[in-house]
Amino acid sequence: MHLIYHESFVEHEQWPGHPERPERLMAIKEALEAHGLWKGPVPIEPVPRELLAHIHQPSYIERLKNTGPGFLDADTAWADSTFDTAMRALGGAYTGVRKTLTTGQPSLCLLRPPGHHAGPDYFGGFCYFNNAALAAETARHEGVERVAIVDIDVHHGNGTRDIMAARRDILYLSTHQWGIYPGTGPNDDVGEDEGEGYTVNLALPSGSGDSTYSDAFDKVAEPILDDHKPGFIVVSIGMDAHYMDPLATLSLSTPGYLSLCQRLVDMAKERCSGKIVFVLEGGYDLGALGDVGVGLAAMLSEKEMPSVKYDMIRDDSVRGADGVASTIHAQKEYWSL
Ligand SMILES: [Zn+2]
Repeated sequence: MHLIYHESFVEHEQWPGHPERPERLMAIKEALEAHGLWKGPVPIEPVPRELLAHIHQPSYIERLKNTGPGFLDADTAWADSTFDTAMRALGGAYTGVRKTLTTGQPSLCLLRPPGHHAGPDYFGGFCYFNNAALAAETARHEGVERVAIVDIDVHHGNGTRDIMAARRDILYLSTHQWGIYPGTGPNDDVGEDEGEGYTVNLALPSGSGDSTYSDAFDKVAEPILDDHKPGFIVVSIGMDAHYMDPLATLSLSTPGYLSLCQRLVDMAKERCSGKIVFVLEGGYDLGALGDVGVGLAAMLSEKEMPSVKYDMIRDDSVRGADGVASTIHAQKEYWSL
């Protein structure tokens, strides 16, 4: 496993008391260190601007570069250091993909600020630039024909969706809670124009957890990835679908998270020679961040799985079955579901 991390990711701060806080990353780092899973991070390469221009409009990048400190919106702030740190996070995603492509080993990109709410020309939801979209574009640029982004953050990645909606070379599949921020990503949103069918939304009701996600992976995610045949998988991983999370009300346990991650790793091994990167998005309970982070790092390092803290099963009856059924209804004309 390649570990992507930089001290400046911890220095990035919104404002005191903000949920997207430095302690999030420190919790993962400390948990990995305690389990002997922390290793020297890979030096981060800068992202070529011409590559970034496929993801964000150059005028948007210039606009942020010239922004002074202050509030960009009600929950996203800007400081003098934010541009450089957000650029370095993009560089982390870029470096992780390139490392994985050259070695066949997975990368774990522990990045801040997160990225999946940043669109072609907009920021939002604590995000400025889209790390996962840039990761997928990097794989394309390096010669991979088809890429899949699987987003298991509790929030819909509206930015990633808007960047990729009209493309069929990069499929975007998101599982998220319906009815919370940012309000986008209904089950019947299948993308636009040439990209129709290559945007997949599993919008799930409050309370959905382990058995619903398992059902969604059985009936939607795996069959679609089987059909799409990606040569590279990017996972937007947010730990905020965990039952411990204070910002949302889905109910994945730590073993539930790890089984989804294992399925994605297995899919990557079977279909794309193990080429998979995990890019950190949200997650606001420090215990859940550490618990899932350690399990994931052990999995990617092929080390023995440590025991986990949060293993209660809160959904054993497929509470989100209607959400999964709506997605199947919307997607069945495009895929063998
Ligand atoms: Zn989130």
